[in-house]
Amino acid sequence: MKHYDYEEEFHSRDRKQFRKERKIAQKTDRSKFKKTDLETNKEEIAHHLPRGRVIAITGEGAVVDFEGKQVLCSLKGLMKKETAQVKNLIAVGDWVRCAEEGAIEQVEERTSVLGRSDISGRKEQLIAVNVDQVIIAVSVVNPPLKPALVDRYLIAAEKGNIHPIIVINKIDLLEIASPEEKERYEAFLASYTPLGIPILSISSETKVGLESLRSLLQNKTSVFSGQSGVGKSSLLNASFGFSLKVGELAMKTAKGSHTTTTAELIPLPGGGYCVDTPGIRSFGIWDLTRGDIVNHFTEFLNLSKECKYPDCLHITEPECAVLAALENGKIAPLRYESYVNLLEEIASGSKAKTWS
Ligand code: GDP
Ligand code: ZN
Repeated sequence: MKHYDYEEEFHSRDRKQFRKERKIAQKTDRSKFKKTDLETNKEEIAHHLPRGRVIAITGEGAVVDFEGKQVLCSLKGLMKKETAQVKNLIAVGDWVRCAEEGAIEQVEERTSVLGRSDISGRKEQLIAVNVDQVIIAVSVVNPPLKPALVDRYLIAAEKGNIHPIIVINKIDLLEIASPEEKERYEAFLASYTPLGIPILSISSETKVGLESLRSLLQNKTSVFSGQSGVGKSSLLNASFGFSLKVGELAMKTAKGSHTTTTAELIPLPGGGYCVDTPGIRSFGIWDLTRGDIVNHFTEFLNLSKECKYPDCLHITEPECAVLAALENGKIAPLRYESYVNLLEEIASGSKAKTWS
């Protein structure tokens, strides 16, 4: 499915010569990439240079797409910013301006960032940037619906300035689901629909809802997130005729074996991209704070002004307005369950509790 071939792209060019030129360019051009320039992006936009999008990062450089033509570009001095807070200065999804010979000159300001801590925990590792939306994939039955996981992704999306879309897959299984499972599904719809987030009920098996999914993905850059086994690969395969591996925990990609990318934008037929990366699986493991949780459950926020204690956590406190609203059916039990779940998660120090 991937068509870039940088060997071909540079077939007329001696690679050594290319590296030599790149080195010289780095030396002479480094002043352009002062830390402040990169951080604030106050540089004047180099309109005269071709604009492209980083679709993959390999050990050799960044693969940049210029309206369908893919070129391996060098990162010049960008990679050498050891002191920067961000580990990778260019990420998949970046819009860049490149000099003729394929040297990235400028990185445009990002509209959204999907990041996580790197192994040291001191720097942010960018998974993908300029992502429009995150598909929060869940399944009705197997694996069961986990509202806390959905809320975790919703918080992550909010923080990264990415639109969330909830996709409930495997609705074909509702037919054979237990009454409790059906009830949970209905309760989920009733609790999350009022939040104003698009929710699609879908089945990659029976192809119900795939048309809606395709139109939501069209001309957008989307990241598929969600627990393993909910059918993310199956959905992409069924919607776009991809052949991503299904039913395996191993890294699933549609790319050739010659690349060592950390993430990749896969073009969607009809326009748009989806982000494919092994890192996506751990997207969501970031420092979830109590503040994040409190701010996310907006329906609790107003009520909490009426709680007896200003710092009420709405768990066991007396005269708690949130607990009272829960009793009266004014707060969705599933959202409350999710809230408690996330609070417990940070209290126990386990950042991966909602994951499995
Ligand atoms: P991923 O880990 O989220 O990428 O999930 P996969 O696409 O690998 O799917 C996990 C399992 O769920 C596979 O055995 C699929 O055949 C199955 N599956 C995926 N979509 C559906 C669906 O709509 N209905 C049913 N019944 N099973 C599905
Ligand atoms: Zn309270």
